[in-house]
Formats: sequence, C-alpha cells, structure tokens
Amino acid sequence: KAKLKGKGCYQFFDMLMYTSSIQNLQLNNDLRRGLERQEFLVYYQPIVKLTTLEIIGFEALIRWQHPQRGLVAPSEFIPFIEETGLIIPIGLLVLKQACQQLRLWEQNGYSDLIMSVNLSVYQFAHPTLLEDIDRILAETEISPACLKLEITETAIMENTNTAILLTQELQARQIQISIDDFGTGYSSLGYLSQFPVDSIKIDRSFVKNISDNQQNVEIIKAITSIGHTLSMTIIAEGIETQQQLAYLRDLGCELGQGYLFAKPLNSEQATAILKHRILDTNKAIN
Ligand code: C2E
Ligand code: MG
Ligand code: MG
Ligand code: MG
Repeated sequence: KAKLKGKGCYQFFDMLMYTSSIQNLQLNNDLRRGLERQEFLVYYQPIVKLTTLEIIGFEALIRWQHPQRGLVAPSEFIPFIEETGLIIPIGLLVLKQACQQLRLWEQNGYSDLIMSVNLSVYQFAHPTLLEDIDRILAETEISPACLKLEITETAIMENTNTAILLTQELQARQIQISIDDFGTGYSSLGYLSQFPVDSIKIDRSFVKNISDNQQNVEIIKAITSIGHTLSMTIIAEGIETQQQLAYLRDLGCELGQGYLFAKPLNSEQATAILKHRILDTNKAIN
C-alpha cells in the first residue's frame, strides 16, 4: 500500500513539474506574441506635490492586455521576463511609449511634467542601455531633464560598481534618478552620497501603518532628514488616506503618489486628469 501511495505521490509530483514547464512554455509564447501584437501598455500614475496637490509628473507602469486573461499586473510577469531576457525589449518599449506620451502632452500645452520610468536590474546591467536611452530621447525629442529613472535600492546595493558608473553617466546627461522602494533593502543611508541620486521613494510599507506605528514615523523622519541633507527630494509611495497625507506633509516629504490622488491611469484617463493640474483642491493645504 505504502509503495503504491509513494508511487502515486511521485507521479503526481512529476505531473506538476510537467504541467508547470508546459505552462512556462505557454507563458513564454504568449509573452513573445504579446510583444509582436503590442499587447503591452503603459499606465500612468500621477505624482503630486503634497502641499498643493499639483501634478508634477507621472510614473509609467506596465500592464499586459492579454487577449484571454485581461489586464495582467506586472508582478505576474516581470520576474518571468527578467529570467528570459524579454525584459530588455519590453523595458525599452515602456521607455519609448512613456517618452512619446510625455512629448504628446508637451505638444498639447502640458509642460514641465516629469516622466518616471522603472528600470529593472537586468536593464541596468545591459551593455547597450545608455545608447538605447540616448536613441529614444533623440527619437522622441524630449529633454533628458524631464526623464527620471527609478532604480530599486536592492538593485543598487547588489551592484554598487555598476550603479556608480551608470548613475554618473545618467547625471552627465541630466537624466534624473530615483531610488525606488527605499527602506526595504539594507543600504546605509550615508552610502547614498556616493550616487548622484535626485530622489528617494519611500516604500509603501512604511506609509501604510504610519498613523499607528511610531517606528515607521521615525524611519520616515530619518530617511527624509538624511535625504534632505544630501539635497534629495523625498517621494512617498502608496498614500491612500488623508491621515497619511497629513503625516507625510508634516514630516517634510515633498512629493507623493497613491490611490488617494489617483490609481494608475491609461493614456486617455491620464490626459483627462491633466486638465485639472491641481487635484481636488479641498485636500490641499492653502
Ligand atoms: P513600484 O515601482 O514601486 O510602483 C508602485 C506600485 O505601487 C504600482 O504597482 C502602483 O500601482 C502601486 N500603488 C501606487 N499607489 C498605491 C496605493 O495607494 N495603494 C496600493 N495598494 N498600491 C499603490 P504596479 O503597477 O502593480 O507595479 C508593481 C511593480 O512592478 C512596480 O513597483 C515596479 O517594481 C514593477 N514595474 C511596473 N512597471 C514596470 C516597468 O515598466 N519596468 C520594470 N522594470 N518594472 C515595472
Ligand atoms: Mg517605481
Ligand atoms: Mg516603488
Ligand atoms: Mg514599491
């Protein structure tokens, strides 16, 4: 009996492996087809000045419009495309689409916006990254100073030499740099001064429990204080409530994004929201 059961278990396990590799093949095919058929879209989440709620720019966030599955979130496919190398063409597609959108807004009178684009650690270490960025900036005719690249704290800390070289090259081009998901890695804050970084994005996990966790308040205070000492702008992620907004303003955090202001929007919705450059004024201080 035991033997049978054992055998059964083994077969079951084997079956799962089989199914999973077939599923991976399927996913890989779907992703390649998706790239050909332009199923990858960019959504835009407003980034606002916390004192006035003026929209100062957007973060570009990828979505996959799958013919059967609908809109697929990045967490469901980014790790996979990083593994398979598809992150390189797909990442460039996001950068190009975001720059084209920014150009279109500029042409329609919405000037001075900053476009933030996430950079995967795999793109970051890719040999043609800088020439690809230069080419896209030239093709879309946007000013490098209007582009901001978001690199996670972990990506920087795990590749400090590449990070120093890359951030210096970006700075020489006047492209801005943000450290994303700050506080989730293990960098020493002082170490940051080695990188020509413009801003720090405080991870959503610290913002989430801000009102009932004094420790998070202290962490945000410390990040803000050292960031300011290094002339960096502080951006808070994931602001969902008025209370969180009030706390973050008091702590001296300049910018923020979150569902309180707007969820990531498609190109049409983002264009519509720009018609009121200042969001819902009863939330602003002045
Ligand atoms: P991220 O760069 O930290 O982006 C912020 C994430 O927080 C986005 O999730 C956004 O929708 C979400 N968010 C913003 N405000 C709120 C809020 O108030 N509440 C909650 N619950 N969530 C909020 P999204 O779009 O699912 O993206 C997840 C992650 O996937 C991003 O985190 C980024 O690491 C990665 N990602 C997205 N687009 C790209 C891309 O084009 N390239 C690369 N390499 N990574 C990307
Ligand atoms: Mg980001
Ligand atoms: Mg982030
Ligand atoms: Mg985050």
